[in-house]
Amino acid sequence: MPTFYYPPVGQCIYCDSPTTDLGDEHIIPFALNGGMVLPKASCHQCEKIIQPYEMTVARRIFGHFRIKHNVQTRNKKQRPETMKIGTLMPNGKKGTAYVPVLDHPVMLFVYKYQLATYFQGYPPEVEINTWIPISLFNKKELDAFIEQYHWDRMIKLLAVPVEFARQIAKIAYSYVVAEIGLGNFTPMQMTLDTIMCRTTNVCHVVGGNEELPTPDPKGAHLLGITVHIKEPMRPVIIAGIRLFPAFDMPEYHVVVGHFDMNNEQHRNVFTQKVIIGTEQVAVSHATDE
Ligand SMILES: [Zn+2]
Repeated sequence: MPTFYYPPVGQCIYCDSPTTDLGDEHIIPFALNGGMVLPKASCHQCEKIIQPYEMTVARRIFGHFRIKHNVQTRNKKQRPETMKIGTLMPNGKKGTAYVPVLDHPVMLFVYKYQLATYFQGYPPEVEINTWIPISLFNKKELDAFIEQYHWDRMIKLLAVPVEFARQIAKIAYSYVVAEIGLGNFTPMQMTLDTIMCRTTNVCHVVGGNEELPTPDPKGAHLLGITVHIKEPMRPVIIAGIRLFPAFDMPEYHVVVGHFDMNNEQHRNVFTQKVIIGTEQVAVSHATDE
């Protein structure tokens, strides 16, 4: 898979640490087939905060999916070939069986979020986290698997909606930094707090659409930026994210920050980059393959 490199940032995009020891930031994690890289963009302290939830999301949400769809990994040897399942025979007898991982129907358990509470007019200190777990699978494949292996349909799940929201916020923010430039907009404090695990009120800035979008068979990740100009002096920057769009994945949005039109630099970038349409305007639309 090709990698796209943005120009290096030269400073940590998450904190004000003056360190020169900076790592490259995958906008969408490598483990989720991300191919866009923001070089020299995060310090080790911030990486230490972000990596644990990125790993949780890659394993807990996309673990089986990644094996089945051969999503890139740095530890190919560690990939299991069989998995243990519970079985329930027609005579009611319970048991266990080891089945090939590739035979198991892929089920993605992800989360739908409501409109970010920022848009609903709630202040950051009001914590209203609502998410609905949803499972995405192919019914034919599932039925065939149950029939063949007498699977008892039991799945052990650890819910990770907060970690997933942090991951979505991190993708959104690093993408906006890549496209608009650090210093060319004011990041939203709650977005940085969500990414850096300083708040549990993740649904203030992370939200999603109620309806699932039509699957896009091409399957490349979709990222986009829109600007809401409700207050003319403070246009708000929103990132839209669809991961693995071939698989019915929900669409998410993140309030990332705003342009301060009293700031000349912000104003210049806004004028250059933002294509004025009606109420919502697009900055760019990228595809990560
Ligand atoms: Zn940092």
